[in-house]
Amino acid sequence: MAPHIPADLPDRIRHYIDGEFTDSVDGDTFDVLDPVSNETYVTAAAGKKADVDLAVAAARRAFTEGPWPRMLPRERSRILHRIADIVESRDARLAELESFDSGLPITQALGQARRAAENFRFFADLIVAQTDDAFKVPGRQLNYVNRKPIGVAGLITPWNTPFMLESWKLGPALATGNTVVLKPAEFTPLSASLWAGIFEEAGLPKGVFNLVNGLGEDAGDALVKHPDVPLISFTGESSTGQLIFANAAPYLKGLSMELGGKSPAIVFADADLEAAIDATIFGVFSLNGERCTAGSRILVERSIYDEFVERYAAQASRVIVGDPHDPKTEVGALVHPEHFAKVMSYIEIGKSEGRLVAGGGRPEGFPTGNFVQPTVFADVAPDARIFQEEIFGPVVAITPFDDWEDALALANDTKYGLAAYLWTNDLRGAHNFAQSLEAGMVWLNSNNVRDLRTPFGGVKASGLGHEGGYRSIDFYTDQQAVHITL
Ligand code: NAD
Repeated sequence: MAPHIPADLPDRIRHYIDGEFTDSVDGDTFDVLDPVSNETYVTAAAGKKADVDLAVAAARRAFTEGPWPRMLPRERSRILHRIADIVESRDARLAELESFDSGLPITQALGQARRAAENFRFFADLIVAQTDDAFKVPGRQLNYVNRKPIGVAGLITPWNTPFMLESWKLGPALATGNTVVLKPAEFTPLSASLWAGIFEEAGLPKGVFNLVNGLGEDAGDALVKHPDVPLISFTGESSTGQLIFANAAPYLKGLSMELGGKSPAIVFADADLEAAIDATIFGVFSLNGERCTAGSRILVERSIYDEFVERYAAQASRVIVGDPHDPKTEVGALVHPEHFAKVMSYIEIGKSEGRLVAGGGRPEGFPTGNFVQPTVFADVAPDARIFQEEIFGPVVAITPFDDWEDALALANDTKYGLAAYLWTNDLRGAHNFAQSLEAGMVWLNSNNVRDLRTPFGGVKASGLGHEGGYRSIDFYTDQQAVHITL
């Protein structure tokens, strides 16, 4: 089957600054590849400091002089709802472009487009329902809190589920009255370029949203080091987060860091095995395994270990790898040949670190493109690299444990602490176990489904700070206390 190429692709991807599409000041561009052919399908403007300076100046003007930060929450909310409606009405097109640009299976890209709309809707409602704190000391003092937008927020996003992750930052940053400069990932700039049209149509004032494409070390770095950007919300690798943390330190910026993961799924012998296998298959192979919360280490109680490994390997072998545009596809093409090479190198490392029970390389019938078989290694020791390091692809390590204590030690034995998944029918034990897990989020007998009101974020090397619900509002606002003597 010939790979699907969407109709009406842009002839180039540009920045969007102060309400206008622009090229880079120095005219520089970079190539964008589609992950099925690995051929350049478009070039994108390669932003540098000069472009970031222009975007920040526009955002700063819109913040100090424009209407956006001064609007009533319900006025901003109406525009955000319109954005959500437009995103939702274009979900099929968005999914088509996202799937083409990133290699995600089309059905899963569709789900991500709908979630992007939901993120806007959620924060549109939250700012209208928002109450501000007041503290009274009867007859003596009244204290209340003013919430204020902070200024220009710098938003730096990764290439996995790019459109949805951008909405996760754009929604609350805009809802709270800030203006923004978005720097999307260079592997996948296509869907980000759609925001400009959506925002214009919804009536977002000029200069509130600005987009600078480019490499992290150029455009991203300039945004982090810009003195007029007091906030950076970053999602990406832990090592990049460390660098950004250091680069932002001289400016004392507000930082929100959503970083990498190596999340455990822990399956006890008393669990509903079928549900646990289904969920742990989905947990690491959905979104091509390019998911920060992927359950990429499965810890299984020894008494059911052999049966689990056998059934899991059989099910992994049935996962359908295919053209991202085919609705039957469950694992598409990895985002970029560089990332493909990284995942393949971990598979080779895994062959000497564990027992290969499924997959192990490129699938038959896909001689080109970034296709990888769902790959399962059993008997992986905790000091193995494939147990410790984030692979960010369809590769999973399975390890046996003997008891609760052993399971907890293995689960916590990484530098990461983003998510954990627990499968057991001992609910009392499970709640105590969850409390001891070093993970920002725990799913108990459930798939990775989030309630947007809950905190999202990791501990240890997986992140700093929490977003989600009111925590996002807290990050994007200053809280000023006003004290009055009565
Ligand atoms: P990355 O760190 O390579 O890049 C992320 C973004 O940072 C890109 O836009 C990149 O251009 C930019 N960047 C790179 N160097 C920079 C610098 N020096 N200064 C400023 N910006 C810079 O990450 P990636 O490979 O795009 O994404 C995959 C990673 O993201 C994985 O580790 C994954 O776990 C993580 N992730 C985390 C979450 C979460 O919520 N915790 C969600 C999705 C992805």
